[in-house]
Amino acid sequence: MPNVVVVGTQWGDEGKGKIVDLLTDQARLVVRYQGGNNAGHTLVVAGEKYIFHLIPSGILHAGTQCLIGNGVVLDPEVFLWEIDKLISRGYAVGPENLRVSERTQVIMPYHKRLDVARERAKGAGKIGTTGRGIGPCYEDKVARRGIRVADLLDADALKAKLAEILPEKNFFLEKFLGDQPFTLEEILQPYLEMGNRLRPLVVNVSVLLEQAIREGKNILFEGAQGTHLDIDHGTYPFVTSSNPIAGGACTGAGIGPGQLHHVVGIVKAYTTRVGGGPFPTECLDEVGDHLVECGVEFGSTTGRRRRCGWLDAVVLREAARLNGLTGLAITKLDVLTSLNPVRICVAYEVDGKARDTMPGTIKELELCRPIFEEMPGWTEDIRGARRLEDLPAATRNYLKRVEELVRVPIQIISVGPDREETIILQNPFT
Ligand code: GDP
Repeated sequence: MPNVVVVGTQWGDEGKGKIVDLLTDQARLVVRYQGGNNAGHTLVVAGEKYIFHLIPSGILHAGTQCLIGNGVVLDPEVFLWEIDKLISRGYAVGPENLRVSERTQVIMPYHKRLDVARERAKGAGKIGTTGRGIGPCYEDKVARRGIRVADLLDADALKAKLAEILPEKNFFLEKFLGDQPFTLEEILQPYLEMGNRLRPLVVNVSVLLEQAIREGKNILFEGAQGTHLDIDHGTYPFVTSSNPIAGGACTGAGIGPGQLHHVVGIVKAYTTRVGGGPFPTECLDEVGDHLVECGVEFGSTTGRRRRCGWLDAVVLREAARLNGLTGLAITKLDVLTSLNPVRICVAYEVDGKARDTMPGTIKELELCRPIFEEMPGWTEDIRGARRLEDLPAATRNYLKRVEELVRVPIQIISVGPDREETIILQNPFT
């Protein structure tokens, strides 16, 4: 019966895909509540590689229903492409295992063009967006001129909305960004056709969830990106356009806070960031190279090399507070093997004073210097460990210190990319 939210505690790319896949075994429903096709999970199932950007990886599990909540922004081209790809690989995909909210915002072609053109115009000051129209789509949602999935099912509504929106989009695209405008016709027909294909999947997700809760089914809420990319609580403006934190599951799926029972924070054993923004524990030396190489720290969606650094307990404590974390899942612990000593940032130093919370502005965060605690590292290969006792004493000490600093118990430890390379101390569903 418990409902579990899984969130990234850092800047995304914590290895959520593997943990979500593990927990999906116990979940009857898996729900995405924010973000768009800028999320990217890579899974290897029976030797075959699957990359998901939009559809929860739970779709690979028989008997699991995947839901796209209203808080997501949906690119119907990508969504239908992912469905077709799954069908071509022999998976059954239909209303029995995949549903999308009628209220989900739709990423339109002008969102994508605006995103790319704007980022190009910004040059060196760019945010590092993936150019998939996600930010511009969220802007239109808040400006109350968004197209929702329900509009794709109603030709008159879609035509009227486009007639109102396009002149403004075209003016901005042509006059401000020097890009190509759109005609209403080139959008209307293909989007109505995609709406027709989506029609059987469209539902009120909130109602469906209430029913599932009444039937006692386990629900897993899958957050994309990470806590410090949250539009409100992240390192603004180097953030995403939605609320990945656990509270986002309530607004982004249509469920009350009292229905969320456990919040599992995914913690990579070190820290990474993509794109710009201050990063106090960043390592620009051979430790950084080790983390990139051993951790294969390149984006699964963009292929960009990630910035790497030591674990930052200040970042994690913020995540514990903002999400109300009830447990931690540590990933990629094996990547630290052979680094000696290992370091954890326990607080920041600003003007000779220590602080243990993150400041509210980028300018202040840039002034923060990490205060590191050093611990002995380990050289043993830990990928074969299946119980806590199998880990070297130094590794266990490191984990114990993380728990102490974050004040949240570790429930899952991942020591390698494979499903089996996991130590489960406490399954939140059982
Ligand atoms: P996500 O989007 O949060 O799932 O994160 P990424 O896109 O960065 O994917 C994580 C990558 O790390 C995938 O290629 C996983 O196979 C891999 N991975 C996950 N857990 C572990 C682990 O414990 N050790 C190692 N070495 N790799 C892992």
